[in-house]
Amino acid sequence: MREGLIARFIDHLPFSKQDVVVSLLEGFTPLLHAPLLSERVGANVYLKLEGANPTGSFKDRGMTCAVSAAVRDGAEAVICASTGNTAASAAAYAARAGLRCAVLVPDGKIAIGKLAQTLMHGGRVIALKGNFDMALQMVRELAERYPIALVNSVNEFRLEGQKTAAFEVVEDLGGPPSALCIPVGNAGNITAYWRGFKEVGASPRMLGFQAEGAAPLVLGHPVENPETVASAIRIGKPARGEEAIAAVESSGGAIRAVSDEEILAAYKMMAVKEGMFFEPASAAAVAGLMKYGAEGAETIVCVMTGRGIKDQQTAMEHHSGKIIQCEPEMNELMRAVLR
Ligand SMILES: *Cc1c(COP(=O)(O)O)cnc(C)c1O
Repeated sequence: MREGLIARFIDHLPFSKQDVVVSLLEGFTPLLHAPLLSERVGANVYLKLEGANPTGSFKDRGMTCAVSAAVRDGAEAVICASTGNTAASAAAYAARAGLRCAVLVPDGKIAIGKLAQTLMHGGRVIALKGNFDMALQMVRELAERYPIALVNSVNEFRLEGQKTAAFEVVEDLGGPPSALCIPVGNAGNITAYWRGFKEVGASPRMLGFQAEGAAPLVLGHPVENPETVASAIRIGKPARGEEAIAAVESSGGAIRAVSDEEILAAYKMMAVKEGMFFEPASAAAVAGLMKYGAEGAETIVCVMTGRGIKDQQTAMEHHSGKIIQCEPEMNELMRAVLR
């Protein structure tokens, strides 16, 4: 039987065999070779398909740990600020654990699929008239005052769970990649990967990518009003920013910016040419790789953080498919199909 990532990596995680674990069988996501992208950049490029996790994003890796720890600590509710995927994941794991879940999201700024997921799992969605950074600040204060478990990536258990993706990459490749391309929002995931790589003695170049309109780690200062089509990384004050900078510096990597146009081009290219549909934030990693090139790296892993179907609106605005209206009549159908 397949097991969840806590069971599988228990020796590397702050849990013991006696602990009750809340799992939806997250982790063990595929590493898919990307032939076209490999050819474009002249390296062996693989995609870590984190959208294959139960709620469709890598957040589940951290959430199995954060919610299991919350249960162990006797919490009755969990809370988070979210650009969407953390909310969906927290709501799902809280439902599984029988905990209440509240999420604070920037009003009108999260993808519809993520909102639907959160609501379906019975999450209480609080739509804040403000951005993600304000939401995070507020839930941090609330969690200090009340016995509610905060499950954002400021929670150590989140990073512990997320570092397991690095173990899987090294295991699947039979060794470390030369570089890892990853989108950066609140900077928890890049921090977690680096932690995981270090624990297995690996040291790939960490290449983080932010959207130009939300690039505090590239600019070196917070961004008051972050803006980008990639809603999952629309963050102006990354909570794990310093750790992310430390990770790229010790790995000889960098954090760089890509424009929304570059993100959308990569988003479309992956769907049309590689047959894989990711959300715009994930495409930022590919956009960065295409923009800056392999820079001598032989094996590159792009972390594809979430599934494209979560954000139907962006897809409907930017696809290159066609919808053709058709009367129930054979000649018309032939024209519609063959034209
Ligand atoms: C959360 C998220 C990110 C950003 O991860 P951080 O840990 O906040 O840097 C990127 N892509 C997707 C799809 C996400 O859900």
